[in-house]
Amino acid sequence: MNLRGLTMQELTEEMLALHQPKFRAKQLFQWIHQHRVVNFSDMLNVSKELRASIDAAHTLTQLTITERHLSQDGTEKLTMTLEDKSVIEAVIIPDKKRITLCVSSQAGCPLNCSFCKTGHLGFLRNLTVAEIVGQVYAAQKIVEKQERRITNIVYMGMGEPLLNTGNVIKSIQILTDDFGQNFSNRKITVSTAGIADQLHQLGSETGVNLAISLHAATNELRDKIMPINKQFPLEVLMKAIREYPAHKRKKTVLEYILLKGINDSAADAKKLAKITHQLDAKVNLIPFNSFEGTSFEASSEEVVLAFQKLLVDKHITAIIRTARGDESSAACGQLGVLSHKKS
Ligand code: SF4
Repeated sequence: MNLRGLTMQELTEEMLALHQPKFRAKQLFQWIHQHRVVNFSDMLNVSKELRASIDAAHTLTQLTITERHLSQDGTEKLTMTLEDKSVIEAVIIPDKKRITLCVSSQAGCPLNCSFCKTGHLGFLRNLTVAEIVGQVYAAQKIVEKQERRITNIVYMGMGEPLLNTGNVIKSIQILTDDFGQNFSNRKITVSTAGIADQLHQLGSETGVNLAISLHAATNELRDKIMPINKQFPLEVLMKAIREYPAHKRKKTVLEYILLKGINDSAADAKKLAKITHQLDAKVNLIPFNSFEGTSFEASSEEVVLAFQKLLVDKHITAIIRTARGDESSAACGQLGVLSHKKS
Protein backbone atom coordinates (compact mmCIF):
# COMPACT_ATOMS: atom_id res chain seq x y z
CA MET A 1 0.00 0.00 0.00
CA ASN A 2 1.33 3.44 -0.97
CA LEU A 3 0.93 5.63 2.11
CA ARG A 4 1.09 8.72 -0.09
CA GLY A 5 -2.50 7.99 -1.15
CA LEU A 6 -4.04 7.85 2.34
CA THR A 7 -6.01 10.72 3.85
CA MET A 8 -5.31 11.61 7.46
CA GLN A 9 -8.35 9.61 8.51
CA GLU A 10 -7.23 6.55 6.55
CA LEU A 11 -3.68 6.84 7.87
CA THR A 12 -5.04 7.04 11.43
CA GLU A 13 -7.01 3.84 10.85
CA GLU A 14 -3.87 2.22 9.42
CA MET A 15 -1.84 3.19 12.50
CA LEU A 16 -4.54 1.98 14.87
CA ALA A 17 -4.48 -1.36 13.05
CA LEU A 18 -0.74 -1.49 13.81
CA HIS A 19 -1.57 -0.78 17.50
CA GLN A 20 -0.03 2.67 17.28
CA PRO A 21 -1.39 5.79 19.00
CA LYS A 22 -3.33 8.29 16.88
CA PHE A 23 -0.59 10.93 16.97
CA ARG A 24 1.62 8.60 14.89
CA ALA A 25 -0.65 9.20 11.94
CA LYS A 26 -0.05 12.96 12.24
CA GLN A 27 3.71 12.42 12.43
CA LEU A 28 3.71 10.20 9.39
CA PHE A 29 1.35 12.47 7.45
CA GLN A 30 3.66 15.41 8.09
CA TRP A 31 6.68 13.47 6.88
CA ILE A 32 4.90 12.27 3.77
CA HIS A 33 2.98 15.37 2.75
CA GLN A 34 4.69 18.36 4.39
CA HIS A 35 8.33 17.25 4.14
CA ARG A 36 7.60 14.94 1.17
CA VAL A 37 10.12 12.31 2.24
CA VAL A 38 10.55 9.34 -0.05
CA ASN A 39 12.13 6.92 2.46
CA PHE A 40 10.75 5.74 5.75
CA SER A 41 14.31 6.01 7.13
CA ASP A 42 14.01 9.82 6.85
CA MET A 43 11.21 9.92 9.43
CA LEU A 44 13.49 10.89 12.27
CA ASN A 45 10.99 11.07 15.13
CA VAL A 46 9.61 7.59 14.42
CA SER A 47 11.37 4.66 16.09
CA LYS A 48 13.55 2.38 13.97
CA GLU A 49 11.38 -0.63 14.87
CA LEU A 50 8.17 1.08 13.78
CA ARG A 51 9.77 2.37 10.58
CA ALA A 52 10.87 -1.17 9.76
CA SER A 53 7.41 -2.64 10.37
CA ILE A 54 5.73 0.09 8.26
CA ASP A 55 8.34 -0.32 5.54
CA ALA A 56 7.60 -4.06 5.34
CA ALA A 57 4.00 -3.55 4.22
CA HIS A 58 3.88 -0.06 2.72
CA THR A 59 5.57 2.08 0.11
CA LEU A 60 6.09 5.78 -0.57
CA THR A 61 6.43 5.35 -4.31
CA GLN A 62 6.72 8.66 -6.12
CA LEU A 63 6.15 9.50 -9.76
CA THR A 64 9.00 9.46 -12.24
CA ILE A 65 9.28 12.40 -14.58
CA THR A 66 10.40 11.00 -17.92
CA GLU A 67 10.23 14.14 -20.06
CA ARG A 68 10.15 17.87 -19.49
CA HIS A 69 9.17 20.37 -22.18
CA LEU A 70 9.65 24.03 -21.43
CA SER A 71 7.82 26.55 -23.63
CA GLN A 72 9.10 30.04 -24.32
CA ASP A 73 6.35 31.52 -22.17
CA GLY A 74 7.63 29.53 -19.15
CA THR A 75 4.92 26.86 -19.28
CA GLU A 76 6.44 23.47 -18.59
CA LYS A 77 4.88 20.14 -19.44
CA LEU A 78 5.91 17.20 -17.29
CA THR A 79 5.46 13.72 -18.67
CA MET A 80 5.36 11.07 -15.95
CA THR A 81 5.54 7.32 -16.26
CA LEU A 82 3.47 5.30 -13.82
CA GLU A 83 4.33 1.90 -12.35
CA ASP A 84 2.27 0.10 -15.00
CA LYS A 85 4.03 2.17 -17.72
CA SER A 86 0.98 4.34 -18.46
CA VAL A 87 2.01 7.88 -19.17
CA ILE A 88 0.33 11.01 -17.85
CA GLU A 89 1.06 14.70 -18.03
CA ALA A 90 0.93 17.71 -15.74
CA VAL A 91 1.59 21.30 -16.72
CA ILE A 92 3.23 24.06 -14.67
CA ILE A 93 1.83 27.45 -15.72
CA PRO A 94 3.70 30.35 -14.12
CA ASP A 95 2.78 33.99 -14.14
CA LYS A 96 4.03 36.96 -12.12
CA LYS A 97 1.95 36.41 -9.03
CA ARG A 98 1.14 32.71 -9.02
CA ILE A 99 2.11 29.33 -10.31
CA THR A 100 -0.74 27.11 -11.38
CA LEU A 101 -0.37 23.37 -11.79
CA CYS A 102 -2.73 21.54 -14.11
CA VAL A 103 -3.03 17.90 -13.02
CA SER A 104 -4.42 14.79 -14.70
CA SER A 105 -7.03 12.59 -13.04
CA GLN A 106 -7.08 9.71 -15.53
CA ALA A 107 -4.65 8.11 -17.97
CA GLY A 108 -6.44 9.02 -21.20
CA CYS A 109 -10.13 9.89 -21.14
CA PRO A 110 -13.27 7.94 -22.07
CA LEU A 111 -15.43 10.95 -22.97
CA ASN A 112 -14.24 11.49 -26.50
CA CYS A 113 -15.00 15.19 -26.89
CA SER A 114 -14.41 15.66 -30.58
CA PHE A 115 -12.11 18.72 -30.31
CA CYS A 116 -9.84 17.18 -27.64
CA LYS A 117 -6.60 15.35 -28.28
CA THR A 118 -6.74 13.47 -24.98
CA GLY A 119 -10.20 12.15 -25.85
CA HIS A 120 -8.87 10.84 -29.17
CA LEU A 121 -6.27 8.74 -27.35
CA GLY A 122 -8.84 6.58 -25.59
CA PHE A 123 -8.99 5.57 -21.96
CA LEU A 124 -6.52 3.51 -19.95
CA ARG A 125 -7.50 3.83 -16.31
CA ASN A 126 -8.31 6.06 -13.35
CA LEU A 127 -5.34 7.48 -11.47
CA THR A 128 -4.85 6.49 -7.85
CA VAL A 129 -4.89 9.10 -5.09
CA ALA A 130 -1.09 8.76 -4.76
CA GLU A 131 -0.67 9.38 -8.49
CA ILE A 132 -2.75 12.56 -8.40
CA VAL A 133 -1.04 13.92 -5.29
CA GLY A 134 2.33 12.78 -6.69
CA GLN A 135 1.98 15.13 -9.68
CA VAL A 136 1.76 18.08 -7.29
CA TYR A 137 4.81 16.98 -5.33
CA ALA A 138 6.89 16.32 -8.45
CA ALA A 139 6.04 19.77 -9.77
CA GLN A 140 6.53 21.43 -6.37
CA LYS A 141 10.08 20.05 -6.28
CA ILE A 142 10.85 21.69 -9.63
CA VAL A 143 9.27 24.99 -8.71
CA GLU A 144 11.00 25.15 -5.33
CA LYS A 145 14.35 25.14 -7.11
CA GLN A 146 13.30 28.54 -8.47
CA GLU A 147 12.40 29.54 -4.90
CA ARG A 148 8.71 29.67 -5.73
CA ARG A 149 5.75 27.49 -4.82
CA ILE A 150 2.72 26.17 -6.60
CA THR A 151 -0.12 28.43 -5.55
CA ASN A 152 -3.08 27.07 -7.53
CA ILE A 153 -4.11 23.64 -8.70
CA VAL A 154 -6.53 22.95 -11.53
CA TYR A 155 -7.87 19.50 -12.32
CA MET A 156 -7.93 20.17 -16.06
CA GLY A 157 -5.29 17.77 -17.35
CA MET A 158 -5.88 14.38 -18.91
CA GLY A 159 -9.17 12.74 -18.01
CA GLU A 160 -12.55 13.61 -16.55
CA PRO A 161 -12.11 14.17 -12.79
CA LEU A 162 -15.72 13.29 -11.97
CA LEU A 163 -15.39 9.84 -13.45
CA ASN A 164 -12.77 9.33 -10.72
CA THR A 165 -14.59 11.29 -8.04
CA GLY A 166 -13.55 9.27 -4.99
CA ASN A 167 -9.83 9.53 -5.71
CA VAL A 168 -10.07 13.16 -6.79
CA ILE A 169 -11.85 14.08 -3.53
CA LYS A 170 -9.30 12.21 -1.42
CA SER A 171 -6.43 13.88 -3.25
CA ILE A 172 -7.97 17.29 -2.49
CA GLN A 173 -8.47 16.34 1.16
CA ILE A 174 -4.76 15.42 1.36
CA LEU A 175 -3.58 18.55 -0.42
CA THR A 176 -5.69 20.83 1.79
CA ASP A 177 -4.82 19.11 5.08
CA ASP A 178 -3.16 21.41 7.68
CA PHE A 179 -0.55 18.74 8.34
CA GLY A 180 0.33 18.48 4.65
CA GLN A 181 0.74 21.12 1.96
CA ASN A 182 -2.21 23.06 3.39
CA PHE A 183 -3.53 24.39 0.07
CA SER A 184 -6.67 26.45 0.38
CA ASN A 185 -9.68 24.87 -1.32
CA ARG A 186 -10.24 28.34 -2.82
CA LYS A 187 -7.04 27.85 -4.82
CA ILE A 188 -8.17 24.54 -6.27
CA THR A 189 -10.50 24.22 -9.25
CA VAL A 190 -12.01 21.05 -10.63
CA SER A 191 -13.13 21.17 -14.24
CA THR A 192 -15.74 18.75 -15.49
CA ALA A 193 -17.26 18.10 -18.89
CA GLY A 194 -20.57 17.86 -17.06
CA ILE A 195 -20.94 14.73 -14.90
CA ALA A 196 -23.88 16.37 -13.19
CA ASP A 197 -24.64 13.63 -10.66
CA GLN A 198 -21.20 14.00 -9.05
CA LEU A 199 -21.21 17.74 -8.48
CA HIS A 200 -22.94 17.72 -5.12
CA GLN A 201 -20.52 15.22 -3.63
CA LEU A 202 -17.51 17.14 -4.95
CA GLY A 203 -18.75 20.45 -3.58
CA SER A 204 -19.94 19.21 -0.21
CA GLU A 205 -16.80 17.17 0.52
CA THR A 206 -14.18 19.64 -0.75
CA GLY A 207 -15.64 23.14 -1.29
CA VAL A 208 -13.35 23.65 -4.30
CA ASN A 209 -14.06 25.98 -7.20
CA LEU A 210 -15.93 24.61 -10.16
CA ALA A 211 -15.27 24.99 -13.88
CA ILE A 212 -17.48 23.50 -16.57
CA SER A 213 -16.17 22.56 -20.01
CA LEU A 214 -19.27 23.86 -21.77
CA HIS A 215 -18.14 24.58 -25.35
CA ALA A 216 -21.67 24.66 -26.77
CA ALA A 217 -24.81 26.52 -25.70
CA THR A 218 -27.42 24.14 -27.11
CA ASN A 219 -28.08 20.45 -26.56
CA GLU A 220 -28.05 19.90 -30.30
CA LEU A 221 -24.46 21.09 -30.74
CA ARG A 222 -23.22 19.80 -27.40
CA ASP A 223 -24.52 16.31 -28.23
CA LYS A 224 -22.36 16.43 -31.36
CA ILE A 225 -19.08 17.66 -29.92
CA MET A 226 -19.38 16.37 -26.34
CA PRO A 227 -21.21 13.02 -26.27
CA ILE A 228 -21.52 13.13 -22.45
CA ASN A 229 -24.27 15.73 -23.03
CA LYS A 230 -26.62 12.92 -24.10
CA GLN A 231 -26.38 11.50 -20.58
CA PHE A 232 -26.43 14.86 -18.78
CA PRO A 233 -28.14 17.41 -21.03
CA LEU A 234 -27.76 21.14 -20.42
CA GLU A 235 -30.87 21.55 -18.25
CA VAL A 236 -29.73 18.73 -15.93
CA LEU A 237 -26.19 20.11 -15.79
CA MET A 238 -27.41 23.65 -15.12
CA LYS A 239 -29.57 22.50 -12.22
CA ALA A 240 -26.57 20.71 -10.67
CA ILE A 241 -24.39 23.82 -11.12
CA ARG A 242 -26.97 26.04 -9.45
CA GLU A 243 -27.09 23.61 -6.53
CA TYR A 244 -23.29 23.24 -6.29
CA PRO A 245 -22.46 23.81 -2.60
CA ALA A 246 -19.62 26.34 -3.18
CA HIS A 247 -21.44 28.15 -6.02
CA LYS A 248 -22.45 31.22 -4.01
CA ARG A 249 -18.93 31.78 -2.70
CA LYS A 250 -17.23 31.88 -6.07
CA LYS A 251 -18.73 32.06 -9.53
CA THR A 252 -18.58 28.94 -11.64
CA VAL A 253 -16.42 29.35 -14.71
CA LEU A 254 -17.83 28.21 -18.03
CA GLU A 255 -14.98 27.17 -20.33
CA TYR A 256 -15.74 27.73 -24.00
CA ILE A 257 -13.29 26.74 -26.75
CA LEU A 258 -14.01 28.77 -29.87
CA LEU A 259 -14.19 26.54 -32.95
CA LYS A 260 -14.36 28.20 -36.35
CA GLY A 261 -17.82 27.94 -37.91
CA ILE A 262 -19.02 25.55 -35.20
CA ASN A 263 -19.81 27.52 -32.04
CA ASP A 264 -18.50 31.03 -32.67
CA SER A 265 -21.46 32.90 -34.22
CA ALA A 266 -23.30 35.88 -32.74
CA ALA A 267 -26.28 33.59 -32.14
CA ASP A 268 -24.02 31.22 -30.18
CA ALA A 269 -22.76 34.15 -28.07
CA LYS A 270 -26.34 35.21 -27.28
CA LYS A 271 -27.30 31.68 -26.21
CA LEU A 272 -24.15 31.42 -24.10
CA ALA A 273 -24.96 34.79 -22.50
CA LYS A 274 -28.41 33.53 -21.51
CA ILE A 275 -26.99 30.40 -19.87
CA THR A 276 -24.29 32.42 -18.12
CA HIS A 277 -26.88 34.81 -16.66
CA GLN A 278 -29.07 31.94 -15.53
CA LEU A 279 -26.09 30.43 -13.70
CA ASP A 280 -24.63 33.71 -12.45
CA ALA A 281 -21.37 32.40 -13.88
CA LYS A 282 -18.46 33.86 -15.81
CA VAL A 283 -16.88 32.76 -19.06
CA ASN A 284 -13.38 31.81 -20.12
CA LEU A 285 -13.01 31.95 -23.89
CA ILE A 286 -10.27 29.61 -25.06
CA PRO A 287 -8.65 29.77 -28.48
CA PHE A 288 -8.64 26.27 -30.00
CA ASN A 289 -5.22 24.61 -29.96
CA SER A 290 -4.88 22.57 -33.10
CA PHE A 291 -3.39 19.07 -33.17
CA GLU A 292 -2.56 16.58 -35.88
CA GLY A 293 -5.57 14.75 -37.28
CA THR A 294 -8.25 17.23 -36.17
CA SER A 295 -10.61 18.83 -38.66
CA PHE A 296 -11.45 21.69 -36.28
CA GLU A 297 -9.93 25.11 -36.76
CA ALA A 298 -9.46 28.00 -34.40
CA SER A 299 -11.74 31.02 -34.77
CA SER A 300 -9.94 34.10 -36.03
CA GLU A 301 -8.84 36.73 -33.54
CA GLU A 302 -11.45 39.08 -34.94
CA VAL A 303 -14.23 36.57 -34.32
CA VAL A 304 -12.94 35.81 -30.80
CA LEU A 305 -12.94 39.51 -29.93
CA ALA A 306 -16.41 40.03 -31.41
CA PHE A 307 -17.70 37.02 -29.45
CA GLN A 308 -16.21 38.42 -26.25
CA LYS A 309 -17.73 41.85 -26.91
CA LEU A 310 -21.19 40.37 -27.31
CA LEU A 311 -20.85 38.78 -23.87
CA VAL A 312 -19.33 41.84 -22.22
CA ASP A 313 -22.11 44.02 -23.66
CA LYS A 314 -24.52 41.78 -21.77
CA HIS A 315 -22.59 42.48 -18.55
CA ILE A 316 -20.86 39.13 -18.46
CA THR A 317 -17.29 38.70 -17.27
CA ALA A 318 -15.70 37.03 -20.28
CA ILE A 319 -11.94 36.57 -20.35
CA ILE A 320 -9.99 35.40 -23.36
CA ARG A 321 -7.53 32.90 -21.99
CA THR A 322 -4.12 33.27 -23.56
CA ALA A 323 -2.88 30.05 -25.12
CA ARG A 324 0.02 28.86 -22.97
CA GLY A 325 2.61 26.26 -23.83
CA ASP A 326 1.40 25.84 -27.38
CA GLU A 327 4.72 24.84 -28.91
CA SER A 328 5.26 22.03 -26.42
CA SER A 329 1.69 20.73 -26.72
CA ALA A 330 0.95 21.73 -23.17
CA ALA A 331 -2.09 23.81 -23.94
CA CYS A 332 -5.72 22.99 -23.20
CA GLY A 333 -7.02 19.96 -25.09
CA GLN A 334 -3.54 18.97 -26.25
CA LEU A 335 -2.32 16.82 -23.38
CA GLY A 336 -1.17 13.41 -24.45
CA VAL A 337 0.21 14.53 -27.78
CA LEU A 338 3.83 13.71 -27.16
CA SER A 339 4.15 10.41 -25.48
CA HIS A 340 0.95 8.81 -24.33
CA LYS A 341 1.54 5.07 -24.49
CA LYS A 342 -0.74 2.13 -23.93
CA SER A 343 0.60 -0.30 -21.31
S1 SF4 B 1 -12.20 17.73 -23.03
FE1 SF4 B 1 -11.82 16.75 -21.04
S2 SF4 B 1 -13.58 15.35 -20.81
FE2 SF4 B 1 -13.50 15.87 -23.01
S3 SF4 B 1 -12.24 14.21 -23.90
FE3 SF4 B 1 -10.85 15.93 -23.36
S4 SF4 B 1 -10.05 15.39 -21.35
FE4 SF4 B 1 -11.90 14.15 -21.69
